[in-house]
Amino acid sequence: MIKESAEDYLGGIYRLREAAELPLPLSRLQEYFGFSRVSIHEMVQKLEERGFLVYHPYRGVTLTPAGEEVATALLRRHRLWERFLTDKLEVPWDEAHEIAGRLEHVAPEQVTERLAEFLGQPERCPHGGPTHPGATPHPETPLATMEAGIDYRIARIAPESPEVLTGLHTRGLRPDCCFRLEQLTAEGALIALGTETITLPPTLVNVMWVTPVENAPT
Ligand SMILES: [Zn+2]
Repeated sequence: MIKESAEDYLGGIYRLREAAELPLPLSRLQEYFGFSRVSIHEMVQKLEERGFLVYHPYRGVTLTPAGEEVATALLRRHRLWERFLTDKLEVPWDEAHEIAGRLEHVAPEQVTERLAEFLGQPERCPHGGPTHPGATPHPETPLATMEAGIDYRIARIAPESPEVLTGLHTRGLRPDCCFRLEQLTAEGALIALGTETITLPPTLVNVMWVTPVENAPT
């Protein structure tokens, strides 16, 4: 049984990294958790001693197969509980993430698997994250790398944080929404959603993963 904070670190590394083989800089973890450099280093050292990750000096951390296993199991629990909260209890989409962040640590594996059964084995969480992380390929691309003048569908929001989820929620944006990317600069993006034009700050642009829509319905 590994402690809650250790699980959060491993889950955080999995969420934030761009690719499994690419070391995640510790500054990204610091930003994400809001902890000091010192406590990040301490935790990284502990997790390395226990065989969950490898620290590459000056570059960051990668997960070992054991770390990968803890992270994907955590994310699966998180995403299934989110699904339950939004679909069955009608908890708003942005609040569900936070509540699931607590349930994921206390709900035993067998109970979560029964929950998956009860929910009809959903493929994705309400934010588009796969419920079988690791086994599901991601065909989607970051919005920040896309071309303007094209219609896109939101496939996934990652990494999720209460701030970005609230920001997207208040703008009416969620997975499966389609919009036209009007303009993309370092200051953010301008998108057309239905008849509305919406400005997105970089913090929101950077969490949106999209797929191009061909022959978008009008
Ligand atoms: Zn989610």
